[in-house]
Amino acid sequence: MRLCRFDEGRLGVVDGGGQVRDVSAALEVLPTFRYPCPPYDGLVANLPAVVARARTLADRAAAVPLDRVRLLSPIANPGKIIAAPVNYQKHLDEVKSDVQIHSNNPAHTITIQQAGVFLKASSSLVGPAEGVVICKPERRTDHEVELAVVIGRQASRVAAAEALDYVAGYTIGLDISIRGSEDRSLRKSPDSYTVLGPWLVTADEIPNPGTLDLQITVNGELRQKSNTRYMILGVPELIEMASSFYTLHPGDVILTGTPEGVSPIEPGDRIVATVEGIGTMEVAVRAAEGGSEKARPAFESVKA
Ligand code: MN
Repeated sequence: MRLCRFDEGRLGVVDGGGQVRDVSAALEVLPTFRYPCPPYDGLVANLPAVVARARTLADRAAAVPLDRVRLLSPIANPGKIIAAPVNYQKHLDEVKSDVQIHSNNPAHTITIQQAGVFLKASSSLVGPAEGVVICKPERRTDHEVELAVVIGRQASRVAAAEALDYVAGYTIGLDISIRGSEDRSLRKSPDSYTVLGPWLVTADEIPNPGTLDLQITVNGELRQKSNTRYMILGVPELIEMASSFYTLHPGDVILTGTPEGVSPIEPGDRIVATVEGIGTMEVAVRAAEGGSEKARPAFESVKA
């Protein structure tokens, strides 16, 4: 199933004909959360029940063409956004050969086995319709297209051989990155620098995440094109590594790293990112308004 969030926090099933079926009523299966909220995404934690209800609702639900909805991040409240650095050999090669990318920081040119994974602020997360707002216009800011994995159930010290059992689904991720000397967690965490979309594809539709073509164009020009088979650590190995350090919760996201071809973006650019088996999302890049971009709403709730 392809589940999207759209407009004012509505829930949709994307059908094969490019229509969104509004199944927001399926959110009624979710338990009521009271403060303090749990450290996981409430929808993903209850995904089987949501999917079952959405399936019964979809056929009779109002259909809206995809190009008439505003797509939000398919995951609303990830407890953490984990990201893999330099997980494609040719990207590591380009980082090593370009001072604009490695910024003479030795931490930027070591292997993923040496570097491990890092965290991006969850406040950096937006959906495709919200777009990327350039935070530091005077500095180089790059696109990175990545396969994004969404964890489905609590995972601690999981072996790679069992790791895919803990995956709820997949989506496309953009890991927008300011180049420079600072730690990755800072350079990659401005508001809007993590884009997830266009929807969540449940794991049953992608039995092997290790063979997917992925690409990105900027203003129609192809910039990155590869396949997840070239990842140094595959999805199972990334889950094994991450879960050996901390517990993974439903809704946690793992950005699996980007292939070669990273390049600068600027206001006015139009990004189109595609991952095989998931779909395509369009994301606009814009300048901050007067240097004081209004913060996006802390959350969107469904209007009755
Ligand atoms: Mn990345």
